Amino acid sequence: MTDDANGQTVAAKAGHFLDVHSGAVTPEIQPSTTYARDDRYDLINAANAYSRDDNPTFVHAERTLADLEHGEEALLFSSGMAAIAAVFYTLRPGSHIVVPDSMYWGVKAWLQNHCERSDIFMSEYDPCDVTTIETAMQSQNSTSIVWVETPNNPYLHITDIEAAADIAHTGDAMLCVDSTVATPVFTRPLDLGADLVVHSATKYLNGHSDVLCGALVTREEHPLWQSIVTERQQAGALPGSFEAWLLLRGMRTLYVRVKEATANAMQIAEFLNAHASVETVWYPGLNSHPGYDIAKRQMQGGFGALLSFAVKDGRQEALKTAGRLQLITSATSLGGVETLIEHRHSVEPESNGIPENLLRLSVGIEHVDDLIADLDAALP
Ligand SMILES: *Cc1c(COP(=O)(O)O)cnc(C)c1O
Repeated sequence: MTDDANGQTVAAKAGHFLDVHSGAVTPEIQPSTTYARDDRYDLINAANAYSRDDNPTFVHAERTLADLEHGEEALLFSSGMAAIAAVFYTLRPGSHIVVPDSMYWGVKAWLQNHCERSDIFMSEYDPCDVTTIETAMQSQNSTSIVWVETPNNPYLHITDIEAAADIAHTGDAMLCVDSTVATPVFTRPLDLGADLVVHSATKYLNGHSDVLCGALVTREEHPLWQSIVTERQQAGALPGSFEAWLLLRGMRTLYVRVKEATANAMQIAEFLNAHASVETVWYPGLNSHPGYDIAKRQMQGGFGALLSFAVKDGRQEALKTAGRLQLITSATSLGGVETLIEHRHSVEPESNGIPENLLRLSVGIEHVDDLIADLDAALP
């Protein structure tokens, strides 16, 4: 597929796969962990030796994802966190990283531990104001990695990737973008200047809440990428063949799922915004959202299917609202075909200051009328 091939077609065709031996239109799962050599001790297929190094089942999912993100190469990992950890494991003690002051909590919590035990300096910036990246970078002599998550968790803050890339590159840092929430359907960070894209493939890429998987996509084979390739081979944070195969299967419907969920999310955001019991709605598709203008430019064709809202009268009313929902399930995670709601204050430490009346909604592909009726009945 060429670089400008329509992503929807890339996803649906999953690399134009056709098995010439069997005629199958889907790739097979190869569970073998090891691969034989011939009588001259050459590998029968030079691409395969041991499945921690290379796994033929991964190739289709990695190629498809690299094409979707307009990247040169992609790597699958056993989870989104494993993919993210692989990036930071390549840094030496004394390195400096710059991360948003609000972001997916699992990443921040891991980074706090990792940076402390590995003597890595971590500075924070305001994800709504890229000029603060420059200030954060200037706090040390040099910076290795600038991290962006957009739209972020749980406020759906929008960071201008193009501007962030310029700032990072001016200081010789790499720009890594966690694009889990935007998906390649709406944003291609590599086209905007990012060096690496990260996905929790557990979320929209797989889309069915039944695979834990992560992925990295690189713009080119820079030295950082070579270190990450080695890190994965040697440390082995890989998914199994079945998970990689399920991910590819999930990605084939990425566009229809994400577009439908996003159309639902837009309507739900408007419904919530007009509801008397709702104090605030955080959704980048509402023009009252502080990141709306950047999102409109940066996100092509939609604003994603994740939103947060605050229920009037505090914690108890928010928890009661979640408890009264019949169709929408209270559970962590996002990006599945089913709508999930989560009270973030209950799962993050008090010091993160998440409002006690905030509920995060991962909108799925149920009929929007049913979702709105469920929310309407549950809200005070
Ligand atoms: C879920 C998530 C992660 C972590 O991914 P796992 O697959 O759960 O390890 C990282 N970043 C974002 C934005 C996420 O939503």
